[in-house]
Amino acid sequence: MIESSPLIIASRLHMQYAAGTSCVDALKDVDLEIASGERVAVTGPSGCGKSTLLLLLAGLERPTSGSIHIDGMALSEMDSNALADLRSERVGIVFQSFHLVSSLTALDNVALPLEIAGTRSAKSRAEEMLEIVGLGTRGWHYPSQLSGGEQQRVAIARALVHRPAIILADEPTGNLDDKTGASVGKVLFDLVADTGATLVLVTHDLEFAGSCDRVLRLHDGALAEQTRGSGKSHAAVYR
Ligand code: ADP
Ligand code: MG
Repeated sequence: MIESSPLIIASRLHMQYAAGTSCVDALKDVDLEIASGERVAVTGPSGCGKSTLLLLLAGLERPTSGSIHIDGMALSEMDSNALADLRSERVGIVFQSFHLVSSLTALDNVALPLEIAGTRSAKSRAEEMLEIVGLGTRGWHYPSQLSGGEQQRVAIARALVHRPAIILADEPTGNLDDKTGASVGKVLFDLVADTGATLVLVTHDLEFAGSCDRVLRLHDGALAEQTRGSGKSHAAVYR
């Protein structure tokens, strides 16, 4: 049997930010391998480097040192256009604070990444995605007309509309109440399960984290602990 190499490999990842006259080491020599289709949760206290790790994996920031390979490609060797192409083809990102375009309807927000990529059936695929996240009748509403949970569903639809192989989610339920968060988490998890995508999920919700295949704990920029998650579908955890 041929062992396939990990989809994501981060080696000795170090990230230093300038902070006034001093500097902050947000990540300290983090080594990480993530297999294709694996669902990995990242937990840890505020300021421990979780968002920084996702920004680096998304190629939205460059590490101070160390390397990231995605499907064998070194991000350090890609210019910003190549990184943008990589994201538009393979990566979907969900943020805690939704980041929808307030002047666009829900439907246009979801269609936007496809339209930027020049996909012809952008609107109809966006409509399908809105159906899947349970907002088929809300396409003409603007973000301000939607609840937080609904806005995050739109953001999830937008992040997954191009069927990315990798989904990076930074506290996607962090701004939602428990019940809404659980239902939005389930939407995300079900979509990940249906598409077989690889998920890196930053969350403070230990139950949500535990439903992933693996749980990483970051402490002060370093990987402190790794535990096996249940790998159960989210649906089984949140009945
Ligand atoms: P988390 O997401 O776990 O809360 P972050 O990755 O956002 O942590 O931040 C890790 C550390 O890096 C924190 O000390 C934070 O203040 C610092 N940091 C994050 N982004 C910047 C930045 N752009 N400039 C300076 N310091 C930053
Ligand atoms: Mg963060």
